[in-house]
Amino acid sequence: METGQPQKPSPAPNTGTASQLTDWAGIQHAFTTTNEPLREIGKSFGVTHAAIGKRARKDGWTRPEKEKPVTAKMAALDPRHQRFVQEYLVDLNGTQAAIRAGYSARTANEQAAQLLAKLSIQAAIEESQQKLQDKLEINAERVIQKLATIAMADPRELVQNKVSCCRFCYGVGHKYQRSDHEMEADREDWERQGKDPQHFNEKGGAGFSLALPPVETCPHCAGDGESRVVLKDTRDLSPAARLLYCGAKQTKFGVEIQMHNQLDVLDKLCRHLGIYATDNYQKSDPLSLRTMTDAERAVRIERMLADNPAMLGVLGGVLGQGGDA
Ligand SMILES: [Zn+2]
Repeated sequence: METGQPQKPSPAPNTGTASQLTDWAGIQHAFTTTNEPLREIGKSFGVTHAAIGKRARKDGWTRPEKEKPVTAKMAALDPRHQRFVQEYLVDLNGTQAAIRAGYSARTANEQAAQLLAKLSIQAAIEESQQKLQDKLEINAERVIQKLATIAMADPRELVQNKVSCCRFCYGVGHKYQRSDHEMEADREDWERQGKDPQHFNEKGGAGFSLALPPVETCPHCAGDGESRVVLKDTRDLSPAARLLYCGAKQTKFGVEIQMHNQLDVLDKLCRHLGIYATDNYQKSDPLSLRTMTDAERAVRIERMLADNPAMLGVLGGVLGQGGDA
């Protein structure tokens, strides 16, 4: 296996006198379980890197698999360019990537433009994004699906403005109408006061119900009826409405229902799906002149979620529940 470690033989491997006291078991452990350079292992155990190399060859020790095998096009780049590409893949921000890769902050902007114009760097980015795609595609799909669900949820499941008849719509002669219960209670009150039942005023009669629609010919409301806001029982919400719902709070004006701003969500969805051709971000990003790949989209959505922790919380909770996507 290629480890990239220098294997040049040392002229005088100094293993003789110290070998009795050397912790070879410890060295073997460090050699076979970490990718720490041999020089560093040697320093910790007081032996030369050459001595460790010799012992490793003799006893057939192997280094652990490298965690991140670099792609072929990445490997072709020099280390600083590799670092730039790795940083660029994090947030697709060339200037920030250049700064994080160690370029001067003053010239990072021009450096990034020059780096991103290099074909070798473009190829490495493309290749890495292809590799990322498998890993991210499912997440991106699910996130997009959830965003779309929020954007398309029906807010009427949470709050409804209901219009019912007014007190005069169905009253006899369009006089004030009581409900059956009110009629009974008012009549009892009247009689308890010792008043003559014959003189009780029934006005428009009983039978008032909020379940009835307004009457167009009503002289009192002219068919507009009376409107009232109805808050729905959040236990009965559909999965979509549940995503939309953020909570409720009691205010001095009544209960206030909080929900995500659907236009905002829709706007973000469009932006990150590249639906707006003249998106400011796309203008400043030379690579987005190409058609966006799924992986690029996935990275952008991740970036957007990073910018919107509240949405991440909601989506995280929902995605965490699993099984419904
Ligand atoms: Zn009416």
